[in-house]
Amino acid sequence: MHLYIHIPFCASFCSYCDFYSVKLLSLREKYVEALCREIASYAKYEGSAADTIYIGGGTPSVLPLGQLRKIIGTVRANFSLSALREFTIEVNPDDITPEYASGLKSSGINRVSMGVQSFDNAALEWMNRRHNADDAVRAYSILRNAGFENISLDLIFGYSMLTDEAWMKNLEKIAVLAPEHISAYQMSIEPGSLIASMAREGKKVLHSPERCAEQYAMLQQFLSAHGYRQYEISNFAKAEDDGSCRIATHNSSYWSGEPYRGFGPGAHSYSGILHGQDGIFAIRSWNLPLVKRYCAYFSEIPEHGGFTERKPVSGSERLNAADIFNETVMLGLRTCDGLDLDRLREISPVLLEKKGPEMERMLKRGDLLSEGNKIKIPSERLFVSDGIIRDLFI
Ligand code: SF4
Repeated sequence: MHLYIHIPFCASFCSYCDFYSVKLLSLREKYVEALCREIASYAKYEGSAADTIYIGGGTPSVLPLGQLRKIIGTVRANFSLSALREFTIEVNPDDITPEYASGLKSSGINRVSMGVQSFDNAALEWMNRRHNADDAVRAYSILRNAGFENISLDLIFGYSMLTDEAWMKNLEKIAVLAPEHISAYQMSIEPGSLIASMAREGKKVLHSPERCAEQYAMLQQFLSAHGYRQYEISNFAKAEDDGSCRIATHNSSYWSGEPYRGFGPGAHSYSGILHGQDGIFAIRSWNLPLVKRYCAYFSEIPEHGGFTERKPVSGSERLNAADIFNETVMLGLRTCDGLDLDRLREISPVLLEKKGPEMERMLKRGDLLSEGNKIKIPSERLFVSDGIIRDLFI
């Protein structure tokens, strides 16, 4: 089982973001109590061993070390971690001090994902990030000194103030730092974000799709030339001397359709494929993104039992074979390893046969490549993968 733990607090909101998070830092302690109750309740009734743990947000690093330790202690008390392969936390650079970094390390966290986004101070200010370029470099070095050997840094491209020269400088800077992993996202206009209102006022916030495609190609070429292997649309892992790469194991579990359990408001869970009388199905469930309601609900249930009803804070949907087929296509084709056709056949040989002629056409026109039992999108067409993937939906 893969565990996701959501920390829904941010000290400030970035201009491009509409993730669920709140600025109510005074709620942190109460929230941690509630979160620990949810974790303990789940483990008591359904729990198992954890393969990976991911503490994400929001900004997990706004939690004091004591609160983080309480969460991690609750996970340790309720799950077997003997087979734990990866334990990641997301951090913001300006939260990282030597004491904080050592505290993360001694808590058993072995991977840190840091939102750098840019090494240009004007761009960081425009994004309303709390840190500047020097903070990011300093935080990176503190994490290394604390002993972290698996660090992922995030970058963003495609926004209108990012010239190609500035983008290249960002790439050069990140290559000098040489993190094990890089995630690079194209900025998009999310409905509830500040840049969405800027766009509604007629301000230009993003480059044209053509310019974005050029910056994406720059990213692919630069990172490939600097020893990074692209393994997913937005993700790159540094090749070690023995040829291995530290891909993000937790995130990869989403792309390969493995079960995961999310804790906290807004967090989603997925059952993996189940077999019923009328065929395969899967359940996706989620907690509503309402932190105060979440705290109230979990403070009312007994800490060690009695938890049978999740309705006040959650919803769920049942996915049928066609839904699972579409999700498998979407997630598999985002990866550079590609989509295993045997997997689609197991989900539904009928649906696979139905899409056969379309697949043939796409292979002929070069939108797809065939490799053994797999199909994949060629690297130079990954940027337009959304359209390619949509054509294979049922
Ligand atoms: S990008 Fe991260 S730090 Fe910024 S508002 Fe969104 S969740 Fe918070």
